Amino acid sequence: MLLLDPNKHERHYSDKRSREIMIKTIKFFENKGKVKLKEDDRNRVWYDDFLEFVKENKLFYELLTPSDYGEKGCRWDTWRNCEFNEILAFYGLHYWYTWQVSILGLGPIWMSHNIGEKQRAAKLLKEGHVFAFGLSEREHGADVYSTEMSLTPQPDGTYLANGEKYYIGNGNKAEMVSTFGKMSDNGDYVFFSANYSHKNYELVKNVVNSQSYVADFILRDYPVTENEILSRGQDAWDSALNTINVGKYNLGWASIGICTHAFYEAINHAANRVLYGMRITDFPHVSQMFVDAYSRLTAMKLFALRASDYMRAASPDDRRYLLYNPTVKMKVTTQGEEVINLLWNVIAAKGFEMDTYFEMAARDIRALPKLEGTVHVNIALIVKFMANYFFNPQQYPPLGTQDQPVDDSFLFNQGPTRGLGKIKFHDYSLAYNLYELPNIEIFKEQITCLKEFLAAATPDAEQQRNTDFLLSLGEMFTLVVYGQLILENARIYNLEESLVDQIFDFMVRDFSGFALTLYGKPSTSDTQMDYLFKMIKKPAVDNVRFGKVWNEQVLTLKDLYEMKP
Ligand SMILES: Cc1cc2nc3c(=O)[nH]c(=O)nc-3n(C[C@H](O)[C@H](O)[C@H](O)COP(=O)(O)OP(=O)(O)OC[C@H]3O[C@@H](n4cnc5c(N)ncnc54)[C@H](O)[C@@H]3O)c2cc1C
Repeated sequence: MLLLDPNKHERHYSDKRSREIMIKTIKFFENKGKVKLKEDDRNRVWYDDFLEFVKENKLFYELLTPSDYGEKGCRWDTWRNCEFNEILAFYGLHYWYTWQVSILGLGPIWMSHNIGEKQRAAKLLKEGHVFAFGLSEREHGADVYSTEMSLTPQPDGTYLANGEKYYIGNGNKAEMVSTFGKMSDNGDYVFFSANYSHKNYELVKNVVNSQSYVADFILRDYPVTENEILSRGQDAWDSALNTINVGKYNLGWASIGICTHAFYEAINHAANRVLYGMRITDFPHVSQMFVDAYSRLTAMKLFALRASDYMRAASPDDRRYLLYNPTVKMKVTTQGEEVINLLWNVIAAKGFEMDTYFEMAARDIRALPKLEGTVHVNIALIVKFMANYFFNPQQYPPLGTQDQPVDDSFLFNQGPTRGLGKIKFHDYSLAYNLYELPNIEIFKEQITCLKEFLAAATPDAEQQRNTDFLLSLGEMFTLVVYGQLILENARIYNLEESLVDQIFDFMVRDFSGFALTLYGKPSTSDTQMDYLFKMIKKPAVDNVRFGKVWNEQVLTLKDLYEMKP
């Protein structure tokens, strides 16, 4: 089984310590227990116990310090960081969030040429500190170009920082807040470290109502020396975007962790509840919702795992991860919402109860598509790759699972963020030809039709400028990329064919749904409508396949896991 089961940790690690980290973390939460977990969530208690555990076991130090700056055992290894992400969110998004914003805060530091700041970060990590990423501003949202935080040179060669940052996680505790701004004299971008405890760092408030601290802070004549400058100009800009490239990937894992725990709670409840003399799970619509939720969750995990392989194998000559990472961000996280919707429709009132994990899941799953660039911002990015993906493939050597215990040093050396339209991809049809299954065949027809649409009914200049039109088209393209990596990994993980075909049952339905949406857009032409109409298809019906997935893979999850009280 692909899903995380805290009672039976089976993930492969080639070193003992990585496995120990995961099992220890699971134990920490299980010992804390569901009652206390929920109580702390309700009372919005700052997670000191968790941070103390992290400090004692040097977890962030080992997981987030590149080997050049840490002792033996330290490395930035996406293979194990994926699972750590998943485990934290499995127990609560807020525990994940303090880790996530530490990752973001460390991005501009590890990408910097400032050795002193890197050594300071490693020392702070060893001492158990958290980090923060000060990019967003209240007025500007996704428009980072309009950043107002400014750094003014002083006659003695130092600088004074002035400005406000908003939505900054860990901004209440981080000794190094990687803060993005502009030089007041020449407008160059700059990243510098600020310390939350300095008297000129005014912590205004927590802008959210939760266990996390998402800070509004103001720097008033905050003194900065050359020692705290992390990067300038193009380097500073690139490290902002390259940090988000790393961070946004983790959001998918948070969705996977949340959905997995919610799934266990939902199936335990539904399969043990009897109405009108029958189990809820005997209703056909309930089994349909569970099979859909399970197939979607499995697909989320297959995709995110495969995207990690491409991220770990990335180099200046292979930047395919720049398509797959935003796909994790926008597709996996929105699929997470879909999974929770399906499960909630089954468990209904139970999902509101204050002693369930589900109640938190239903609230928190909404956050992930909206943070670090909204779904729209990411689709707008994804469509830039569409032409090369469909019409200009390139050969790459085959890529296996990247689970080796090494540093992912390229992530901190990604280079310029330009030239996205030039990135080439391997032929997607290789993955689609790995299987001969009815729903994959139907999905392939849909892809062919989409390609014909792009070639023969190409969106005109006005449509290409219209983000509403482009976003719907982007959803269809994203689904092709999503399916490709799912299939690559289904083969690697030797997934049951019945489940693979069941996954493509929802893929065909989703593709049809997006085609219908684009069909209905005001500017869609008659020719385009003809193509889109042909893309609306029904999945292959196979009750035997469905029954196999339901009875052998989904119902068997009943009573497999329940968090300790
Ligand atoms: C709980 C929480 C924690 C956060 N933590 C941090 C943190 O630690 N550090 C940090 O720096 N930031 C943080 N953020 C900020 C977060 O990343 C931004 O909120 C997010 O990037 C989106 O900005 P916005 O919500 O202001 O939306 P806006 O940027 O105002 O967007 C409004 C609308 O315009 C659309 N839009 C904008 N630009 C484009 C585009 N180019 N293409 C297509 N559509 C577009 C958006 O999709 C959206 O629908 C956090 C936010 C929250 C709520």
